[in-house]
Amino acid sequence: MTRTNLSLVATLIFLFLVNPDCQRTPEKVLSGDNTPIFPRGEAAPAEFFTGTAWVTGLVKPDSVFTTAAGSVLFEPGARSNWHLHPCGQILLVTAGVGYHQIKGQAIEIIRKGDVIRCPPDVLHWHGASRDSSMSHIYLLPNTEKGMVVWQEPVSDEDYANLNSPKSR
Ligand code: MN
Repeated sequence: MTRTNLSLVATLIFLFLVNPDCQRTPEKVLSGDNTPIFPRGEAAPAEFFTGTAWVTGLVKPDSVFTTAAGSVLFEPGARSNWHLHPCGQILLVTAGVGYHQIKGQAIEIIRKGDVIRCPPDVLHWHGASRDSSMSHIYLLPNTEKGMVVWQEPVSDEDYANLNSPKSR
């Protein structure tokens, strides 16, 4: 390394050390707010949802990437109708506390950070809990197999049936 190069490196190291932007403390990193990652989007269609929910499409499938993705915000008490995905579905919970139920099984309580896999053609629903909103990203892989088949709304009785819930 030449003397000029050495002096350049020394200058860069000095600038790095004195530049406050380079001296991020963990506190600064951790003090971020809780504003949502994605826009709230459009009101979810009342035909397929009970209560108030919002949907934002994030990835539109095409011939290269046959995966669809989006974000859904369910306000407390809101949920999808019963439905199934011929292509299967993965949910990434990004905020709040909610419920997920596969037909014939107990309601599962899902929280921020949970990842839920729903196999193809399995009847289920997902939504917020009674007291908290819940947001999740949905991933629909292999959309050429069919994205969603909607069925009837989740009754208030089914929604309130939290007996022996399986908490994650
Ligand atoms: Mn689903």
